[in-house]
Amino acid sequence: MTTLFRAEHLRTATPALVDPFGRRIDYLRLSVTDRCDLRCVYCMAERQTFLPKSEVLSIEELARLSRAFIGLGTRRLRLTGGEPLVRKGFMDLVCELSRHLADGSLQDLTLTTNGTQLAAHAEALAWLGVRRVNVSLDTLDPDAYRRITRGGDLARVFDGLAAARAAGLAVKINTVALKSDNAHELQDMVAWAHGLGMEITLIETMPLGEIEADRTDQFLSLEQVREAMGRRWILKPLMKRTGGPARYVRVEETGGTLGFITPLSHGFCEACNRVRVTCKGELFLCLGQEDRADLRPLLRDHPHDDAPLIDGIREAIGRKPKGHDFRVARNGDGSTVMRPMSMTGG
Ligand code: SAM
Ligand code: SF4
Repeated sequence: MTTLFRAEHLRTATPALVDPFGRRIDYLRLSVTDRCDLRCVYCMAERQTFLPKSEVLSIEELARLSRAFIGLGTRRLRLTGGEPLVRKGFMDLVCELSRHLADGSLQDLTLTTNGTQLAAHAEALAWLGVRRVNVSLDTLDPDAYRRITRGGDLARVFDGLAAARAAGLAVKINTVALKSDNAHELQDMVAWAHGLGMEITLIETMPLGEIEADRTDQFLSLEQVREAMGRRWILKPLMKRTGGPARYVRVEETGGTLGFITPLSHGFCEACNRVRVTCKGELFLCLGQEDRADLRPLLRDHPHDDAPLIDGIREAIGRKPKGHDFRVARNGDGSTVMRPMSMTGG
């Protein structure tokens, strides 16, 4: 059976994924590795321990899993990590998935990357049908960048951004707002991104994973940031919603789009259309909840039969919770969701 026929067959034979609250789940974020070439202070410990290779899905397993989701109505797929571009065989996965772009069973294939390896891959990504990339960048200052990422070289990200734009990829910058590290720089970053025709989204730190720093120290309310920006610029709210936690405005003076992701300050769950799969094949139904389904045994115990995998995905979607349950916020009551973003993917 060809891939094309298999995808088409699944699409017509199985109804799309709809959760108990009537939300159609058509967006998958798939983490392809927990490893990374950086150690951002809010994301990883300095001496982060990583999964043994045997626990991580192979490129073939990641492709098979993606095919199953596409067969179940996934139309948008974001590859993330850890750092997706450090995963060996990553471009083979993109190549495999690009067939689904070509046959129309997948509408959008994107990735979230730290940009350090983008210069080498941007052209191939564009050629394979990737149209947009999210690049995470928290500062334009090389010293602050080195500090936040624990050793990263900002010049590499600039090279990556230049290559992405030259290849025709639309770039969105993701910036985590950090009280002590980049609060003073956020307006400049918006002006810089818009000046280069890139969207930018600011993100509040989320209580994910165990790291050394005190999260309440790093937390910067985007409400305050937005207020301050509103004094400098006219911010016109946009209707654009992605089913995710971002809210968007147009900055009238720059003409650019600015997003705010404020999961701790506001509920964003009503229109949730997404699920996440970790690089070891755990399907998480909500970024802020622990409930999960382990898909890896369904892949490994049934190498030639997708039926158990498809049943497992359906069964899990049947218990997707209504909303998240982050309990640590600015008042910090001590309880956290202990799964780092590098595990679940951003
Ligand atoms: N390595 C890639 C990157 O940095 O873009 C992809 C994975 S990274 C985990 C995805 C996104 O999650 C990044 O934009 C990163 O800034 C964000 N992130 C990581 N830990 C976070 C946290 N605790 N709170 C908010 N955002 C976080
Ligand atoms: Fe790596 Fe991305 Fe986490 Fe930074 S945010 S440590 S680049 S996975």
